[in-house]
Amino acid sequence: MRPREYAASHPHHPWRRFAELTDWSLVWAELPEGVMGRTCHQTRTVTLALGLSQAERRCTIAHETAHIVRGPVAPHQTLREELAIDRSVARLLVPSVPRLVDAMVWADGHLETAADALWVDHYLLSVRLRTLTAAERTLASTRLGPALS
Ligand SMILES: [Zn+2]
Repeated sequence: MRPREYAASHPHHPWRRFAELTDWSLVWAELPEGVMGRTCHQTRTVTLALGLSQAERRCTIAHETAHIVRGPVAPHQTLREELAIDRSVARLLVPSVPRLVDAMVWADGHLETAADALWVDHYLLSVRLRTLTAAERTLASTRLGPALS
């Protein structure tokens, strides 16, 4: 499995989706440690951290685009919103459980290697694995078994 082949057949294009939001701007800047991106609804600006890998940039622009689409939330709703966006973006960028399983088997269970193969970062893949539906978990467990528990 090679990322380019995977990308060619992938239904969601985060950068294309962001580009459709023509009244929003993208800037690059140093952000605090551990922060990969920010969305400011007031200035309609997404800021991505310098120094991200290609997969991190791809996952982060998808995440920030979800903030744009869903709109601002009250401070007390921030944590829940982040979790909801993480879940939905993980599903958006890794829609296929058979492909996820193929990548995990091919990578011998190594999360970062599987994430590379799926063209996402390891955080997004870990979210996708943690938030499999019961049906997806059943499908995946026949081949992954212990790696999922
Ligand atoms: Zn966020």
